[in-house]
Amino acid sequence: MSVSPLPASPRLTFLLDVDNTLLDNDAAKAELARRILARLGPAETERFWSVYEAVRAETSVVSYPLTLARFWGAAEIAEDLETRRGEVYALADLVVGFPYADFLYPQVFETVAHLRTLGRVAILSDGDPAYQPSKIARAGLDPAVDGFVLVYGHKQEHMVEVAASFPADRFVLVEDKPDNITAVRTALGELGLPLTGVLVRQGKYAAKVGAGPWDGAEHTLERFAALRGLGRDAFLG
Ligand SMILES: [Mg+2]
Repeated sequence: MSVSPLPASPRLTFLLDVDNTLLDNDAAKAELARRILARLGPAETERFWSVYEAVRAETSVVSYPLTLARFWGAAEIAEDLETRRGEVYALADLVVGFPYADFLYPQVFETVAHLRTLGRVAILSDGDPAYQPSKIARAGLDPAVDGFVLVYGHKQEHMVEVAASFPADRFVLVEDKPDNITAVRTALGELGLPLTGVLVRQGKYAAKVGAGPWDGAEHTLERFAALRGLGRDAFLG
C-alpha cells in the first residue's frame, strides 16, 4: 500500500490504541480463556492464570510468552516435560495463533481510512514486545496504517520517540483507557506539544467513566467508528 499525501498544516498525527479501541480485547480474552480451559482443564487453567497475574505484577505488562515459559518451566512439571511436548506445542499454538482479526470492532478499516484523509495515522499500543506486534499483525491492522506500529510497555514514557517518529503540530490520541489520555497529555505537554484526546467508551476501563462526556478528553465517543462523523476541525483544538 502506498503512503497517502498528507493534508496541509497544521499537521495532525493520530495515535490509535489497539486493545478495546480497534479490537474487542475483553471478548477476545474471554474466548481465549474458554479455549485454554477446554485444553488444560480447571486445575491447570487456574495455575496458568495465576502465573499470568504474577508476570503482570512483576513486569507491569501482560506477557503471554513469559507466562507460557514459566507455566511449563514450573518445578513440579519440568521433570516430565518431555512426555508432554504435544501439550506444550498445542497451548503455544492456541495462545500465539489466536485469531484476533475475528474481534475487530465494526468498520475499523473504513474509520482508519477516514482518519488518513485528515492526517498521519499510527498505531501506538502498550504490551509485550513479542506478542503485541504479532497480535496487531494477525489482526490485519499493519497494512491499514502503512506499517506505522509502535509498541511499548507504557506509551506515556515514550512520547519523545513518538513525536520524533511522527512529527506533528498536534497529536490526537484515540484510547479506551482514561488514565492513558491523561498521562500522554502530560508527557506531550512537557514537550510543548498539544493533544486532542478521544475516549472511546469500549471495554472495562472506559466503563468506569460515568455516562456523558468525560471531561479528561475533548471527545467521548461510544464507538471507534463514530470517528467517521468527525472532520479535521473537530481535532484542531
Ligand atoms: Mg486499550
